[in-house]
Amino acid sequence: MSTQSFAELGLDASVLAAVSAVGYETPSPIQAQAIPILLKGENLLGVAQTGTGKTAAFALPLLSRIDASSNDTQILVLTPTRELAIQVAEAFNTYANHFKNFNVLPIYGGQDFYPQLKALKRGAQVIVGTPGRTLDHLRRGTLKLNNLKAMILDEADEMLRMGFIDDVETIIAETPADCQRALFSATMPAPIRKVAQKYLSNAQEVKIESATRTVERIEQFVLPVYAERKLDALTRILEVEPFDAAIIFVRTKAETVALAEKMAARGHAVSPLNGDINQRQREQTVEDLKRGKKDIIIATDVAARGLDVPRITHVINYDVPYDTEAYIHRVGRTGRAGRTGKAILLVTPRERSWLKTLERATNSPMKDYQLPSPVALQKMREEQFESQLLGFTEDRRLGKAIALLDDIAQRNEMDMAMVAGALAAWMETAQPGALPLEQPAALPVPVPGARRSRDRHHRPGGERRGHRPGFKKGGASRGKPPARGGKRPPRQSDAKR
Ligand code: AMP
Repeated sequence: MSTQSFAELGLDASVLAAVSAVGYETPSPIQAQAIPILLKGENLLGVAQTGTGKTAAFALPLLSRIDASSNDTQILVLTPTRELAIQVAEAFNTYANHFKNFNVLPIYGGQDFYPQLKALKRGAQVIVGTPGRTLDHLRRGTLKLNNLKAMILDEADEMLRMGFIDDVETIIAETPADCQRALFSATMPAPIRKVAQKYLSNAQEVKIESATRTVERIEQFVLPVYAERKLDALTRILEVEPFDAAIIFVRTKAETVALAEKMAARGHAVSPLNGDINQRQREQTVEDLKRGKKDIIIATDVAARGLDVPRITHVINYDVPYDTEAYIHRVGRTGRAGRTGKAILLVTPRERSWLKTLERATNSPMKDYQLPSPVALQKMREEQFESQLLGFTEDRRLGKAIALLDDIAQRNEMDMAMVAGALAAWMETAQPGALPLEQPAALPVPVPGARRSRDRHHRPGGERRGHRPGFKKGGASRGKPPARGGKRPPRQSDAKR
């Protein structure tokens, strides 16, 4: 992670305010490198994958240089798919949240021309388009690029793979000669290099170094999961993993707090750790973790820097790290003091390309993490319930409780099984999920190769399908410790958010 702050990078004040509102703590490495170059108006060649924070790396500096009083199209971003176009447009909207007058418009195939024409007529300072549709509008004269200040080619290698490279070149040739240009690509195949040489004169090249380092004594696992199922996956991991203490990494300060609240609601002893937390509080949190008053910490990379708590048996990467350095640092929070540790990485389909990079950097392949089947999970929950129940058979209140229940049973002509059943139903009503009554549903797991269908981009032919309008700005108590599984609390519904 970079030690620089966003404020030091020279971004426009309203852009900075928006960044701080989304809760980004520090610039990711690609941002720290690219932002100063783009702010100077220079051309840039960025070797960066999805997940490195590349969208903000170009959106923040370009927004800082925009003339918000003019409705002319000043920035054009080309993306391979409509999903990515929508996502990038949403990012621009977020970062321009403090602008008084701001319009971004995604344009892509599959959507009717008419609403796009209307929106284009109204004017949008930023256009995010797929190559085919962008070219259509240029040819019809409905998109004018004469006042364009900057153009970005995002995921250039994907555009090449999808056969858009000629369209891309035609579009670049239509942009003003003095227009700033940047190209981002995960790989740099020869045709992309050629485009860069031809159209990005004197481009500065930035890339994320991937230092190779072996991660010893740490077993590394990966769990492919749909983005919207990450919370369910984490809940199950914490349910089945026999952890002592765990650290869970997320990307933003806001997420440390939000996720800590969700985990606390599931009965875990958990604290957030982020850069907003003052030194005294931070020391207290670390001390609580060391002493076992807390078992889970939800942290950002910055906040976890140098954290050394031998009790940490598990590192869970809830959000993927920005670069291999950050990954190595994260997993290094376990396996301390000669112990062994386990690291589990949650990867959504769109982040899958990260895997290979990480494996290369750490010199070791990651094993597939196996979540238990619903049947196995149910069996485990029943066993744990039983062991928790048995934990109360020596409770000092047992004598009085039995006398009370016996009396009720006799007067109402019930047997004790009926009384126990009624009590259990009561417990379940008071705390839904406390009893393992229903078999849990299987967690849908993305299958390798099917990544293009559900997640944000990479849908071949995506340009031709679908509609999407443009944007306008506008603790439970614990019984006896469970027989196995980590700090399992009485269960709440997995699906609860
Ligand atoms: P990207 O690589 O552009 O697809 O970004 C990946 C994710 O990282 C997005 O969800 C961004 O909101 C998030 N992100 C980008 N920059 C930062 C940052 N400096 N701090 C925290 N999260 C970030």
